[in-house]
Amino acid sequence: MNTTLLDTLKAKLGATGVLSGADISDKYAADWSRSNPQRPIAVLRPRTTDEVAFILKACHSAGQPLVVQGGLTGLCGGATPHAGEIALSLERLTGIEEIDPVSQTLTVLAGTPLETVQDAAAAAGFRFPLDLGARGSCTIGGNISTNAGGNEVIRYGMARALVLGLEAVLPDGTVISSMNRMLKNNAGFDLKQLFIGTEGTLGVVTRAVLRLFPAPLSGCTALCAAGDLPSVLKLLSHASRRFGSGLSAFEVMWADYVDFVLQHAKGVRLPFEVRHALYALIEFEGLQPETDTALFETVLEEAMTDGMVRDVVIARSEKEAANLWKIRDAIGEVAPLLTSAAHFDISAPIGAIEALIDAVKKDLAASFSGATQLTFGHLGDSNLHLVTSTGRTEDTQKLYELVYRRVGEFHGSVSAEHGIGMIKKKYLGLSRSAEEIDLMRKLKALLDPKGILNPGRVI
Ligand SMILES: Cc1cc2nc3c(=O)[nH]c(=O)nc-3n(C[C@H](O)[C@H](O)[C@H](O)COP(=O)(O)OP(=O)(O)OC[C@H]3O[C@@H](n4cnc5c(N)ncnc54)[C@H](O)[C@@H]3O)c2cc1C
Repeated sequence: MNTTLLDTLKAKLGATGVLSGADISDKYAADWSRSNPQRPIAVLRPRTTDEVAFILKACHSAGQPLVVQGGLTGLCGGATPHAGEIALSLERLTGIEEIDPVSQTLTVLAGTPLETVQDAAAAAGFRFPLDLGARGSCTIGGNISTNAGGNEVIRYGMARALVLGLEAVLPDGTVISSMNRMLKNNAGFDLKQLFIGTEGTLGVVTRAVLRLFPAPLSGCTALCAAGDLPSVLKLLSHASRRFGSGLSAFEVMWADYVDFVLQHAKGVRLPFEVRHALYALIEFEGLQPETDTALFETVLEEAMTDGMVRDVVIARSEKEAANLWKIRDAIGEVAPLLTSAAHFDISAPIGAIEALIDAVKKDLAASFSGATQLTFGHLGDSNLHLVTSTGRTEDTQKLYELVYRRVGEFHGSVSAEHGIGMIKKKYLGLSRSAEEIDLMRKLKALLDPKGILNPGRVI
């Protein structure tokens, strides 16, 4: 590495702000996918936007490529360094700057873990509704850069819908401050959108103004067992109509997933005596604690009477609700047990999901013997997660091709919420037109003419 550049950066960031040589631990070598790990040549740990701007300006001048790292829980290899890259870690750019109860906003530095944001909002009597299994480690900047989805998209939308204002640093070090806190602001281009969901290719997110919501006054959770997908889809539409915007989660797990979790995850129990084809985890949040539980029970009784649901267990305490969520959240624990697995985060028009799953199952059976498939997802948002494995490394690529080809045929998306990063880059063309990809390239070239920021990711 250019020693003048390193010295310049050390002078600005101080000794603890720059890690090099043996001080660079393995954690900076890859994101959660652990795909193609590579140690960066240095790790920069700024504490302020001004330091981020200084770093980018210096690297831009020197033509030094960098990769941005948040909590490294990404699943697409986007934050994994390439040979010769510096890692720009936001692990010290942390803290809640302000909670404004009148405008119902929270202002935060980008390296702050999502769970810290959730807790701060709760302590002030609000709710920050972005939620996902990696909440303790992922950062709000990573969530924004990947436009993260998670468990409550059905009610609150994806990260994009929760960001009112943003500060970002362009690849040449220019700071763009759009720290808007109004719901309405049509004064010119909405520039923050350039940095939401673009996976750090156009700029480094340093601060954000987030939307808060009143904390719900009641919460009801149930696990429903169903015989087939049409019944589950009927249940989804029934619950949406009866609960309105109170329906905050509708997670579906197929028997292949639940059986695997019961076999391998610790402390997970299925509250039914017999096995069912599908399970829907439903959450309803309301503002009428006196009547919400009764409404919840009535709606589920209607679903039973109508035959949409074969059995149902309603959580009677927060602990029981947490136990039901454990089944869904156990994916983080069990997925690593599948050798050389292919992980999919796909979406398809909701009416096409059954046909897509059937087609994939047939393809898997025709091409491989004894392949494992785990099927689950945020079905309320048309989002399906599949994990497939034959246990043989040489089959993984074929698994990706087989599933993505079907996703393209069914006009779905090769990435519903995790992003493209490196791992899905070659499949982007199945979900985006040549003209769309060309425009993405033009935007990248305009904002990062030297290609120093997250080069080679996404496009
Ligand atoms: C157990 C588990 C469950 C998960 N569940 C979900 C889920 O339900 N929904 C979902 O959407 N995702 C999920 N994820 C994926 C992951 O948690 C999200 O993508 C998360 O938003 C990544 O945040 P991070 O801080 O870890 O980012 P990183 O992994 O560090 O980075 C992700 C990408 O964003 C870029 N980046 C990071 N910070 C910044 C920044 N400040 N400015 C510019 N670019 C930046 C990186 O360069 C990289 O391209 C899950 C992951 C795990 C391990």
